[in-house]
Amino acid sequence: MLKKILNEISMTFHIEATGPILIKEGDTKEEDSSLMRFVVDANQKIFIPGSSIRGVWRSWCEKIARTISNGVPLACDPFNNILDTENLSCSKRLEKMDTSNVYALSCPICKLFGNTSQGSRIRISDAYIVNGDIARDNLPVRDGIGIDRFTGGSSSGAKFRYQYLSDKTFEAEIHIRNFELWQLGLLGYLFRDFREELIPVGFGKTRGLGKVKGTIEGPKLTFYGLQHPRINSTDKKAEIKGSGSLYTDVDKGHYCFATEAPVEIDFKTASNSAIKTIIELDGDQAESLFMKKSPDYWANVKDDGTPGGYYLIAQEARNHIGEVIEDA
Ligand SMILES: [Zn+2]
Repeated sequence: MLKKILNEISMTFHIEATGPILIKEGDTKEEDSSLMRFVVDANQKIFIPGSSIRGVWRSWCEKIARTISNGVPLACDPFNNILDTENLSCSKRLEKMDTSNVYALSCPICKLFGNTSQGSRIRISDAYIVNGDIARDNLPVRDGIGIDRFTGGSSSGAKFRYQYLSDKTFEAEIHIRNFELWQLGLLGYLFRDFREELIPVGFGKTRGLGKVKGTIEGPKLTFYGLQHPRINSTDKKAEIKGSGSLYTDVDKGHYCFATEAPVEIDFKTASNSAIKTIIELDGDQAESLFMKKSPDYWANVKDDGTPGGYYLIAQEARNHIGEVIEDA
């Protein structure tokens, strides 16, 4: 894992429950609970754990990677530990590796979200309600019909009840360290789908629960060290780089960062000091940043017919499909 911090992006993530949602307490199941309750923290406050949000982000990004790569497994299945299968988890595939090489050989999704050999680049805080708190005991309750696990039909007599919440907005803080530009492109697809309410959260997706609208606000980019982004204060334009272009040590080869050209972005404010540069963006500028690199780095085939840049790099990591890699 890269110890030095080269760049960082932080932002606020809003999750608006546009329909009924239920983030379950513990792992209660329909058949063993008479009332499924919303999760609360140690102070009995309703919240969405950051780990749950990260889980949703991760699995949706896996889905995006699979869709874009036209069936070629660019993303591993983190739960698959069966050797010689195409989507063997990177955790299993790389468990015997020296940690310095793990990043290079991890699939694109593990590069961002981590696996058992390396930490995640993304940190997501717990999310709390920002538009009027509500006590868990005051949440409305619905009756559900149990689904028979063998026939798939409703099982006679199996009834359960569940709490739900709607019209509330949760807020979480997001931090991503040492990002590569293609990763912002991947998140661009994720944020687009969140905005269009395509990504369900929590319990009961097949029962029509879980509809949310996710939006990001106020991304702030920080670049550390002497390699300042080039900034034009008159036109409010900056040229930013991913961690691959900022990392200069001889160890760089180990990480196999993508070779990425800098990207020019518009900004709202920028400030420079000897040790860091901070750039803040408004909503439109953020959207343009996140969507800018996506087509180049993710499309299987570009407009001119050549394979997309990141596709090739990811393919290299995936050449070891199914194979447990040991250090030479
Ligand atoms: Zn992986």
